[in-house]
Amino acid sequence: KTERKIIEASIRDIKDFPKPGIVFKDITTLLNDHKAYGVLMNHLYQRYKEYNLDFIAGIDARGFIFGAALAQMLGLGFVPIRKKGKLPYTTISEKYSLEYGVDEVEVHIDAFSAVPNAKVLVIDDLIATGGTANAAATLVNQTGATCVEACFIIGLSFLDGIKKLEEKTTVYSLIEV
Ligand code: 5GP
Repeated sequence: KTERKIIEASIRDIKDFPKPGIVFKDITTLLNDHKAYGVLMNHLYQRYKEYNLDFIAGIDARGFIFGAALAQMLGLGFVPIRKKGKLPYTTISEKYSLEYGVDEVEVHIDAFSAVPNAKVLVIDDLIATGGTANAAATLVNQTGATCVEACFIIGLSFLDGIKKLEEKTTVYSLIEV
């Protein structure tokens, strides 16, 4: 099996979650499968080891699981980009719209300050409309760092989230659905 096939086979589809009509991509089965998780992390390590990155920024909450592991493998610091109200120190925040209403993500103002003009990889498990990742990339750039790429395990290409995000940064998604 190819790397992609092993990873893809470990992700489970859950019908009608969190609402009727939605097929949720469940990555807990990937995390539970030591081999698939390892294949994924090795794939990401091989891709990003030559990027000369300074930080990995993971999006709340599943982006933390992949981002923190990758940061350790690459020998880089990890930065959490969190839903509003979770980070204790001074933050900058960015709103983005959902199907109904708005949401907001935040990052610590000094998160990337250890490296001037830091090169940052933003990572999350999945991109759908791209709203969350767009706000995350905007935040990184507002701190004075640069989001050099946004990485996703799964990209839902029937929504045009990837296309929109590509106006702001390079986008890599391992499995396109
Ligand atoms: P977007 O802002 O691109 O519309 O939604 C992406 C965010 O919602 C990500 O943080 C992602 O974790 C979450 N998300 C939306 N749909 C799914 C899904 O089917 N599976 C998983 N694992 N996460 C999802």
